[in-house]
Amino acid sequence: MSTSTDHTGTGLTTETARTTERPIGFTAPSGIDRAAHHRLDEAWLAAAWSHPTTRVFVVSGGQALIDEPADSADGRTELVMTPAFEAPVTETHRYFLGTDEDGVSYFALQKDSLPGRMDQSARPAGLREAGLLLSPRDAGLMVHAVALENWQRLHRFCSRCGERTVIAAAGHIRRCQACGAEHYPRTDPAVIMLVTDEEDRALLGRQVHWPEGRFSTLAGFVEPGESVEESVAREVFEEAGVTVGSVEYVASQPWPFPSSLMLGFMARATSSEINVDGEEIEEARWFSRDDLRSAIESGEIVSPSGISIAARLVEIWYGKPLPKPLGP
Ligand SMILES: [Zn+2]
Repeated sequence: MSTSTDHTGTGLTTETARTTERPIGFTAPSGIDRAAHHRLDEAWLAAAWSHPTTRVFVVSGGQALIDEPADSADGRTELVMTPAFEAPVTETHRYFLGTDEDGVSYFALQKDSLPGRMDQSARPAGLREAGLLLSPRDAGLMVHAVALENWQRLHRFCSRCGERTVIAAAGHIRRCQACGAEHYPRTDPAVIMLVTDEEDRALLGRQVHWPEGRFSTLAGFVEPGESVEESVAREVFEEAGVTVGSVEYVASQPWPFPSSLMLGFMARATSSEINVDGEEIEEARWFSRDDLRSAIESGEIVSPSGISIAARLVEIWYGKPLPKPLGP
């Protein structure tokens, strides 16, 4: 099991024996205590906002400013944060994200656009890029802010009565002043699974709209009234015509594009004949480890990469980092 712990005093960790070696994007302990008990305490929030050590960053359209500061000893990319008194004030779109072990409070401001660049090296970045570059603390702050922004943007009206809702609880609730309903941030569970057969080959598929050559794990949304294990079996059969027996949970990953939580699994096939649906999945193939290595090295296929848990599921099965294409 995991050897690392977070700094929030909860002892929680998101790592398992299979993911400790290289954590999955957005799942390394951020060291931030979300301190949810402060969200309804306006006096505490006002004091935290005006405190000189408080750090603020702007989130807009899923992006934030990132920078490699000149004084950064390790060349680490950071979120561009300012003290609250330098931040553009937008009281109604202020998200309280938590505090660190030194008592520093962190806020995100949602704006229609990012502020002018602080200096020449700062640049806007989305989570897919920033997630690979930022420290676990900054990546954790940004994924929280982007998830809240996505939810706020899509839930401006009450789903009970249709009236406009207003932000509350420092960004974590929307209230309807007409009917009194409270709406909470929504997370949509999705399953993502690496299916193997009795020869320990892996089933990878190509979605219809993906760039040519790209293959990855199968995935899909959990439906109402369904367990995640049922969802894994249903999605694999729908997309590839393969039946699944045992399903083993590996790890989860927040995926706010716009509001998913990816639940990662290893699944064992009980049939091997492939019959793709042709709508979502255009092609699916069984790969042995040698098949996959030569297909990647020759450039025939492009394997999953980046922050996605898909890349880690394939690597866990492969047993080591995936090879790179050979040649130019
Ligand atoms: Zn309402």
